[in-house]
Amino acid sequence: MYDLIIIGAGPAGCTAAIYAARYHLKAIMLYADMGQISYAHSVHNYPGIEEISGTELAMKMMQQAVRHGIDAKNEDVISVKKKGKYFAVKTSEGGSYESKAIILACGSKHRKLDAKGEKEFTGKGVSYCVTCDGPLFAGKEVAVAGSSDSAITAALMLAKYAKKVYILSRSGLKGEPVNVEQMSREKRIAAIQGVEIKEIKGERFVNSLRLSSGKELAVEGLFIEAGLEPSIGLAKQLKIKLDKGYIKADSEQKTNEKGVFAAGNITNRTRLKQIVTAAGEGAIAANSAYRFLNKR
Ligand SMILES: Cc1cc2nc3c(=O)[nH]c(=O)nc-3n(C[C@H](O)[C@H](O)[C@H](O)COP(=O)(O)OP(=O)(O)OC[C@H]3O[C@@H](n4cnc5c(N)ncnc54)[C@H](O)[C@@H]3O)c2cc1C
Repeated sequence: MYDLIIIGAGPAGCTAAIYAARYHLKAIMLYADMGQISYAHSVHNYPGIEEISGTELAMKMMQQAVRHGIDAKNEDVISVKKKGKYFAVKTSEGGSYESKAIILACGSKHRKLDAKGEKEFTGKGVSYCVTCDGPLFAGKEVAVAGSSDSAITAALMLAKYAKKVYILSRSGLKGEPVNVEQMSREKRIAAIQGVEIKEIKGERFVNSLRLSSGKELAVEGLFIEAGLEPSIGLAKQLKIKLDKGYIKADSEQKTNEKGVFAAGNITNRTRLKQIVTAAGEGAIAANSAYRFLNKR
């Protein structure tokens, strides 16, 4: 029986783990992957670190948690249930764990476009991660779907490798001024606004996109930057209250369920979904879990 199970190993989960270990809680951190941070090409806004790749920062956070004595297992949690005063957690790897408290730090996942062919061509020209797959498209024509700052930074990154980058958006582009300006200077990027991707076409790999304008755009890759949605599947199993799709957490990261805390991109606490805010919420969640466990 653990005192605490932390689900997620992004900045929120790892920070909660570091604090939990330092409180000498018997805690385990279960994680499916390294989280959104590992998609960041380079991070410039985490205090104390001038510049670092997302993957390296994620590894450092994990190593720090493990060095402090946390148990960490790369297992995908498929069910979490309340059993009297305890929680029972099961993973797809066959793991079975029990704890007195839970921190949900499950972050968010990429939103799909829901275009025809999207599922079929994922990994065959369709990608959700420029940092991971961008270099595979060196010298090719590619498209980015999305209108946010992430879509613009994805296009800028792709322009380093690709011959041509089309940025396709339903509405106008909404990026940080510095990125919009940089994009306007990049000759290899062409913005096509007011269109939707109706179908992703190809044989074994993507070779074109059918747009709502009726036009067929020849590209070999499509990077989807349609935003993120919180991973609230486990929260729903515990009947945790939501606020606009995010876990409703108070200023101590408590949810409506006793013993269940939430931290990071999965919560409604702030619109600023960043590493530093996720880490802050992770620290508060661990402190609240510690105080909850001491009162039991
Ligand atoms: C391309 C990109 C660039 C970014 N750049 C920056 C930047 O420069 N600066 C910045 O501050 N922020 C940046 N961000 C945002 C930042 O990455 C997130 O705000 C941050 O990672 C959120 O942390 P989190 O711990 O809440 O969630 P995440 O990092 O998403 O971690 C979620 C964790 O939960 C786990 N999980 C989910 N469901 C389960 C399950 N069922 N079982 C087990 N584990 C599960 C995942 O495997 C993962 O370990 C960027 C994001 C992206 C996508």
